[in-house]
Amino acid sequence: MGNKFIGAHVSVAGGVEMAPVNAYEIGADAFALFTKNQRQWFSKPLTDENIELFKANCKKYNLSPDYILPHDSYLINLGHPDEDCLEKSRKSFIDEMKRCEQLGLKLLNFHPGGTLGKISVEECLDRVAESINIALEKTSGVTAVIENTAGQGNNVGHEFWHLKYIIDRVDDKSRVGVCLDTCHTYTAGYDLVNDYDGVFNDFEEIVGFKYLKGMHLNDSKKELGTRVDRHDSIGKGFIGFDFFTKLMQDPRFDNMPLILETVEEELWPEEIAWLKSQAALAEE
Ligand SMILES: [Zn+2]
Ligand SMILES: [Zn+2]
Repeated sequence: MGNKFIGAHVSVAGGVEMAPVNAYEIGADAFALFTKNQRQWFSKPLTDENIELFKANCKKYNLSPDYILPHDSYLINLGHPDEDCLEKSRKSFIDEMKRCEQLGLKLLNFHPGGTLGKISVEECLDRVAESINIALEKTSGVTAVIENTAGQGNNVGHEFWHLKYIIDRVDDKSRVGVCLDTCHTYTAGYDLVNDYDGVFNDFEEIVGFKYLKGMHLNDSKKELGTRVDRHDSIGKGFIGFDFFTKLMQDPRFDNMPLILETVEEELWPEEIAWLKSQAALAEE
């Protein structure tokens, strides 16, 4: 039994309780999900039945909350320049944290936000940190996991120092972490292909692996430094198979959710099996 826990961002059609079933069916031992409709600010509360069935299905298929990485709504911008929108984002984020709490989950993955061209990067990051502080105060047991971005448009979070800047301003360091998306990292300008060691040494130095709570494993349809977010299937994009082999054999990525958000869902079982085979090679 290896230390790599691999899955995909699975569907919750039919209720959140379907996510662990869908994960099991693709051979995953980790998964990501939306706990509500990702295109709405607020959704109806989870029922007791949803919650019980979700927990029962996770148990049945041996899926531990340690390797489940829920993702928040794309509407939320915790660094929004406008006060009303910031307030709405914060309310919606707290609701998402509470849903995770109800489901017995430990992590909530989110994109930090964007300046909309109206405030500086630092001002935006200050707002994100304050948003996290507010959310952590109002909830318990769930870690806020900041995802690095491709830096598309006015989005922040594409440089490692952005992640560090936010973490530095969060009061409870035990409940903040980061998730690196390989596609975002690459198109943000970090050369995972030709400088694997350099990129992760930088990450260790600037942020620290102790804050790494999960990974999104995506190949990229766009080239290095383009700052465009277009996921590709593993091995089909500009990152390529060799990088993913290295990552699967690197113990710094042990014991955390490694989540595919690749574009061809029908390939997920194959992608998971291939990634696991690469991890297994290292153990021989
Ligand atoms: Zn991602
Ligand atoms: Zn993406």
